[in-house]
Amino acid sequence: MRGFSTNAIHAGQAPDPTTGAVITPIHPSSTFVQDGVGGLRAGGYEYSRSANPTRTALQECLAALEGGRHAVAFGSGMGASDVLMRVLLKPGDHVVIPHDAYGGTFRLVDKILVQWGVEYTPVDLGDVDALRAALRPSTRLVWCETPTNPLLGIADIAALADVAGTAGARLVVDNTFASPYLQNPLALGADVVLHSTTKYVGGHSDVVGGALVTGDDELAQQLLFTQNSVGSVPGPFDAWLTLRGVKTLALRMERHSDNAERIVELLGGHRAVEKVLYPGLPEHPGHEVAAKQMRRFGGMVSFLVAGGRDAALRVCSATEIFTLAESLGGVESLIEHPGAMTHASVAGSALEVPDNLVRLSVGIEDVEDLADDLRTALDVAG
Ligand SMILES: *Cc1c(COP(=O)(O)O)cnc(C)c1O
Repeated sequence: MRGFSTNAIHAGQAPDPTTGAVITPIHPSSTFVQDGVGGLRAGGYEYSRSANPTRTALQECLAALEGGRHAVAFGSGMGASDVLMRVLLKPGDHVVIPHDAYGGTFRLVDKILVQWGVEYTPVDLGDVDALRAALRPSTRLVWCETPTNPLLGIADIAALADVAGTAGARLVVDNTFASPYLQNPLALGADVVLHSTTKYVGGHSDVVGGALVTGDDELAQQLLFTQNSVGSVPGPFDAWLTLRGVKTLALRMERHSDNAERIVELLGGHRAVEKVLYPGLPEHPGHEVAAKQMRRFGGMVSFLVAGGRDAALRVCSATEIFTLAESLGGVESLIEHPGAMTHASVAGSALEVPDNLVRLSVGIEDVEDLADDLRTALDVAG
């Protein structure tokens, strides 16, 4: 089996047989010539909602990176989540979601799926017994994120797969925060992996996309059928940009992890910081599990500001290199206040986050510039 970066650069991306182009072409064509009425299609393609060659290249690459037989690329991470939930859940079914699920995932379940009779329970999936207690005979799906957003909790994927499997439920892992370089949930027993490729996979904050990866042939056919029916496909240029980004994923994740470790060290020693949340810290409750299932601990760091909500808001506005913005996983460093920004939609619910919480997406800039920027912001605003 080839190594990660060899797959990132070559899987699904052989030189173009007609022109010799080394880089996968962008195929904007919406339709493809047919050999005859009802006959074979010349190149295996028919219409670009159903399939498109640039998208196929991306799918083959992502399947190789997650160690799954099939990948399906989507127009966004939420498009992927929507199709997966529609395939796996029927009216009356029950789904377990993380108690600090990505806000958009919570909204999809809480505002859309409940209208169709789906029931859900938010659970701290860092606690396997809590999952056992939440399971019902109607539980069809356990939806897991690890590390979680924005509290960076860790769930034991192999243990959850065991419990879910025994109960006849599927385990889906949203692997967006780790990226396929740091963690491969299918190898740990998960049934499906989800990515918002908008984040680390694309890596340059210039494209929105999503993907599902699975080793299950029948499930893959159902996903493709439903995607073709509802139309949540990525455009060929988006697929191409994602392919361009993913080639450097291993290099980027190593640097994100290096830089995050240095930032964690700085935060841990600053008087304006009450607590640092990072799975690489030995005192993090999920540290041992993270060390077992992840290659490194990644570029996401959250912390609680000692001075409360106002101080946290001031810190978010005081940095210069860390840009105040939602999203994550790009080469540039970002800072945000989850309570007022990414997680505003869960205020007042079981998923509410502390109001003195700040989340960093540590980029790949020169780390001492990042450390100086953050130290200055904490000195003056914290
Ligand atoms: C961004 C994100 C999503 C949603 O993906 P989009 O591409 O924004 O639709 C899902 N899960 C996690 C963990 C995310 O960070």
